[in-house]
Amino acid sequence: MNRLYYDDAYTRSFEADIIERTEVEGKLALVLSHTYFYPTGGGQPNDTGRIHSAQILDVLTRESDKAVLHIIDRPVDENHVHASIAWSRRFDHMQQHTGQHVLTQAFVQTAGFNTVGFHLSDASLTLDLDTPSASAESISTAEMLANQIIWEDRPVKAHIVDPDHAEDVRMRKMPEHLLTGGLRVIEIENFDSTACGGTHVKRTGEIGIIKVLRSEKRGSKMRLEFACGGRALRDYTAKNMLANQLTTELTVGLDEVPLAVARLQEQIKASQHALKNTQEALLRFEGDSLLRSAQKCGSFNLICATFEGRDAANLRLLASQLARHPQIVALLASADERVNLAFARSTDLDLDMAALLNQTLAPFGGRGGGQPVLAQGSAPATKDQIEAALQTLSISLCSR
Ligand SMILES: [Zn+2]
Repeated sequence: MNRLYYDDAYTRSFEADIIERTEVEGKLALVLSHTYFYPTGGGQPNDTGRIHSAQILDVLTRESDKAVLHIIDRPVDENHVHASIAWSRRFDHMQQHTGQHVLTQAFVQTAGFNTVGFHLSDASLTLDLDTPSASAESISTAEMLANQIIWEDRPVKAHIVDPDHAEDVRMRKMPEHLLTGGLRVIEIENFDSTACGGTHVKRTGEIGIIKVLRSEKRGSKMRLEFACGGRALRDYTAKNMLANQLTTELTVGLDEVPLAVARLQEQIKASQHALKNTQEALLRFEGDSLLRSAQKCGSFNLICATFEGRDAANLRLLASQLARHPQIVALLASADERVNLAFARSTDLDLDMAALLNQTLAPFGGRGGGQPVLAQGSAPATKDQIEAALQTLSISLCSR
């Protein structure tokens, strides 16, 4: 077997002969006389790195003969080549993968939960437990045992077992297929044995730490997101920075942050309520002043006003406020980048404000909508243009 990572997960560079040049989906691929590159499989992503001057894009197993295909970004003419593995990526996979073995066995021993799924990528690390619910306490107990096993720095060893005698080894999981000619068993001393073809650290201490980050119910299973070693450190660094930012911004201790946030939310709610009351009072006051300036116009009183920088909601509130009084027609506009219009009338009158509004906006290519009593809309017009249009409309309404 030419997959040397099975026996040695720590070699980072090596020399080999190219024994085949081929293509996979239009990309160049090499088969080497032997390799330390890990191909995607068993829940562990492929290694990357270089072969001579070429970058490795992917490493995979050819279905027909189980050869390891190294997908590269440019041709390599030499037949004897130097190759190097991108170590930080590989070691991260070794930490996370071995950490999963430890955490999985910790759940078996402390809660009787079995792992039925495992996912490792650059972005996430999860395992699925065969239980619909796992309490925070049971997760914490398993996590504690897992870290204990790490701190005891137990040896992690790979054995090849004759498949016919596999029954003799007490194993958590049997493999789906065999690549090694025998059954490859990964043993964490006096703790866990399982069939696995991945790359692992040689002592549990190298995992560093295991931290479960969150859990989520997924049908009849629980999915746990966790982080080991370098990933756990990066996660802690990010969260610690965030915690320091929060305590500085809120000028409280870390344990007081939730209370401080709840207090802020209360204050915002109270402020919003007070602001709404003030705005309503202001609108009533403004409405009263507009009512006094209303122009008598046959059977009703006409209020026509143009503002600047008022938003559509505020303009509508003012218009409907005015129309609560009897015999009022209010034609309001606010000029900004566009012009907003709000037309309203008292219920004791018979005018279609939506029709009047659309008729006013049409020359400017604007649109509106609403009811016969209250309508609003906007158009790309200037203040002068809309004032002139409202003037014309007022004259036509008053001469009815
Ligand atoms: Zn493994």
